[in-house]
Amino acid sequence: MDWEEIKELSLNEPKGLLEKMLKLQEECGELAQEVLINNKSSGLQYKNAVEHGIAKECVDILLVTYSIFYSQGYDDDDLSSLMKEKLAKWKKYQKRKK
Ligand SMILES: [Mg+2]
Repeated sequence: MDWEEIKELSLNEPKGLLEKMLKLQEECGELAQEVLINNKSSGLQYKNAVEHGIAKECVDILLVTYSIFYSQGYDDDDLSSLMKEKLAKWKKYQKRKK
């Protein structure tokens, strides 16, 4: 995985924060549609599932999210420390639920 390429593309992306946020919402909608198709939900039976459709939409969401993150001036160290912080919180939550 070339994280530098993701960072470079993110920083070169001409879209502003609001446009990126709207793009993220669009990608969330596309993921929702893939999940509904996968679930054979009512009204979507006529649509064929795209191969790896859910995974591809997850990646789209990750890329837009990274683009937002890096364009706000955060770096890899910030990403790493915030990930650790959020993972610890998630782990604590799961332990509490058991
Ligand atoms: Mg997409």
